[in-house]
Amino acid sequence: MPSAARPPRLSKSRYVQGLQCHKQLWWRVHEPDAPELAPTPGQENLFAQGKEVGERARGYVPGGELIGLPFYQYDNKVAATREVLMRDPPAIYEAWFLADETYVGVDILERTSRGHTVIEVKASNSRKPEHLPDAAVQVHVLRRAGLQVERAEVMHLNPDCRHPDLSNLFVREDVTALVEGALVGLPDELAAQQRMLEGPLPDVPIGDHCSRPYECPFIERCWPKVPDQHVSRLYRIDRKRALELEADGYATIYDLPSDLELSVIHARQVKAVRTGRVVVEPTLKSALAQFASPLAFLDFETVSLAIPRWPGCRPWQQVPVQFSVHVEERDRGLVHYEWIATGPEDPRPALAEALVAACAGGRKVVAYYASFERECLKQLREAVPTHARELERIEKRLVDLLPAVRSHVYHPDFGGGFSIKKTLPALVPGLSYTDLKIQDGEKATVELQRLMLEADRTPAAERAALREALLAYCERDTWAMVKLLEKLRSLVVDQLELF
Ligand code: SF4
Repeated sequence: MPSAARPPRLSKSRYVQGLQCHKQLWWRVHEPDAPELAPTPGQENLFAQGKEVGERARGYVPGGELIGLPFYQYDNKVAATREVLMRDPPAIYEAWFLADETYVGVDILERTSRGHTVIEVKASNSRKPEHLPDAAVQVHVLRRAGLQVERAEVMHLNPDCRHPDLSNLFVREDVTALVEGALVGLPDELAAQQRMLEGPLPDVPIGDHCSRPYECPFIERCWPKVPDQHVSRLYRIDRKRALELEADGYATIYDLPSDLELSVIHARQVKAVRTGRVVVEPTLKSALAQFASPLAFLDFETVSLAIPRWPGCRPWQQVPVQFSVHVEERDRGLVHYEWIATGPEDPRPALAEALVAACAGGRKVVAYYASFERECLKQLREAVPTHARELERIEKRLVDLLPAVRSHVYHPDFGGGFSIKKTLPALVPGLSYTDLKIQDGEKATVELQRLMLEADRTPAAERAALREALLAYCERDTWAMVKLLEKLRSLVVDQLELF
């Protein structure tokens, strides 16, 4: 229940959350310990990298004073900012203000000849529409607090920046005119949010706003549970089309009328779901012809750093730092090779060398969603010119297992998706990722970063366990491909036996 004391004050982030949905804001304010609000490892990582970007940005607007008080000391930070403003420095980092019962922290407040510029620092590679309300609420509160704000900017990472030249790491975009537009109606919205927070949980219908601009953490609370074979599970169906089908009375795939026009994949999916059996097209046999032995099965894991660390890298570039390869070798059968980076130095030269050796025996190199591996190989070629020719040869031998499944097979348990996490347990019962300590790519990326870059903060035993968990995860990806291909081949044989 809402507290009877002073109404909760708003902040920059609360205002933005409230703009997306009042109900979401109410829960965030009145249930701050809700389990849905606990950050995922991926979100924690983004937050940490965002903090690093914010700190780095200060160096590009030099000469400022930092309001370095702890995060929760809002009033002290407001008072400290007031004091620093009296000294009139060229800039203030983390300047805090309070007006209209709303706190805002300004990443960088830069003094100009006739006033101030509000600079909102973003760790993204471009400016996005959702950055504007963020900047607008700061301009509003600062002006209400009596400051002359002349200009607003979004300072984001520059996708054209390449390590080691970080002089152009940031782009500063003038958004003053857009912010002035966003100020219209802002005071009314602040007042509406404050009134709403004093009342009971508001009634807000679900809709597109639940995932735009940000995925709401309370979706499970608001959205009704849907049956396993709900029409929204049709492969890549957009939400609007699924809602239309539901409104027409077709809630599940079983309900769809037989004369409904469907794509080839949807038609196969509907057939598999209705019959409860895997559907295999006769074309699967020819699709598998390209997987000619001896095969190498390849999977990369990457890290993605906001501030590039290694030569030629741009902000947020996905850099390969680990691989697993299973290779069919003439005398030894299926052999496993792996490589993982464990320190902060550039991993690509050593990885490339190990990879070239590992893939040497493979006539074709199998990947699942091969465009990812292709991009990693392209990057490696640029970063390690001494192995460029061999890496190019690997790239040319790549064959993709994903389309072989997607265009020719559907199992009722795919659940409308063709990621290996969905297709593997359906086609190869008993084999999945659920027995592993690391079970998805997002966690792997975060943990790889920890293994490589946080050696000083991670005890040796924990690092060893982390390394093992990461190796096991990557190995499972290539082992999964081995077993999937085996299964696909057996489906072709089964099919031939039927005729
Ligand atoms: S799921 Fe949608 S309606 Fe529910 S709180 Fe989130 S944004 Fe609001």
